[in-house]
Amino acid sequence: MGWKLSLLGSRRRCSFCGRSEAEVSRLVEGPTVRICVECLEACNEVIRKERKELLVRKQKEEEK
Ligand SMILES: [Zn+2]
Repeated sequence: MGWKLSLLGSRRRCSFCGRSEAEVSRLVEGPTVRICVECLEACNEVIRKERKELLVRKQKEEEK
């Protein structure tokens, strides 16, 4: 029954930062990956910035 013990030993972790479920405020589970709220917010920030830059670029092009 060694496998059961190792299964219990491997805690659920964020696939991005590697922190365990206990270390993050919330862990969102996908079919193959898990991501914590902290990483999700970091991703959102990146997407938001890129969208903003894209919007600014678009507006500049329209001004021409
Ligand atoms: Zn994370």
